[in-house]
Amino acid sequence: MLLVSEVKKHALSVGGDMVGIATADSLSKAPGYKPTDLLPTAKSVIVIGKRALKGFIEPGKGRSVSWGMIYLNHKLNEICYEVSKFIEDRGHKALPVFFIYETFLKPDTPNFNAVITTKWLAYVPAAVQAGLGEVGFNHLLLTPEYGPLVRLTAVLTDAQFTPDPKTKGDLCPGISCNLCAEACPVGAISADGVDRIKCHNYNDAYQEVLGYSYCAMCIKACPVGQ
Ligand code: SF4
Ligand code: SF4
Repeated sequence: MLLVSEVKKHALSVGGDMVGIATADSLSKAPGYKPTDLLPTAKSVIVIGKRALKGFIEPGKGRSVSWGMIYLNHKLNEICYEVSKFIEDRGHKALPVFFIYETFLKPDTPNFNAVITTKWLAYVPAAVQAGLGEVGFNHLLLTPEYGPLVRLTAVLTDAQFTPDPKTKGDLCPGISCNLCAEACPVGAISADGVDRIKCHNYNDAYQEVLGYSYCAMCIKACPVGQ
């Protein structure tokens, strides 16, 4: 029998920094694809986080942010493939949910906001269900260990694992902190949520040159995990 402890150990050994388990059922109402839309027999979701270096975001925006995120996206794709292979070698089905490139859509794409928030398995709600952290005012995952300095990936499997307990949800005081909103150069963060079109418009020109979003002001400003 495949033990969840073996899977977690393997995820860390191939480069993950944190790993948690959610049930597929717990994500049946999350935005985007449900686990069973992608793997019809899915029972568990393994969510893996990799820490981003503080050096990447030290300038707040620029080349090092883009290059750091590009590296992490590739590395996380590798990690979730290796974890999936480990599971399949032990008799279960597994599907790596690779980072995909919806983020490269132009903001004038019809239904842009809906498309970018619904056309993949949403990593952040999965990470919350898997006990890795909570959603901050900046709509990023905040983890107790690394704050928002974490990139995520996920593996779906038909193996049935016991889910991890959710965190307490007391990391972000919201508007009484507001540092991420104050740091955003285009005012995209407010009590109404994050205006993704404003954020993408701001990042778009640089994205074409650097290959990925270049702004991390809302990450750099956050004191959680620092
Ligand atoms: S990435 Fe930059 S532009 Fe987008 S919400 Fe964060 S601070 Fe604002
Ligand atoms: S900067 Fe403050 S308000 Fe924004 S996510 Fe971090 S703790 Fe929450």
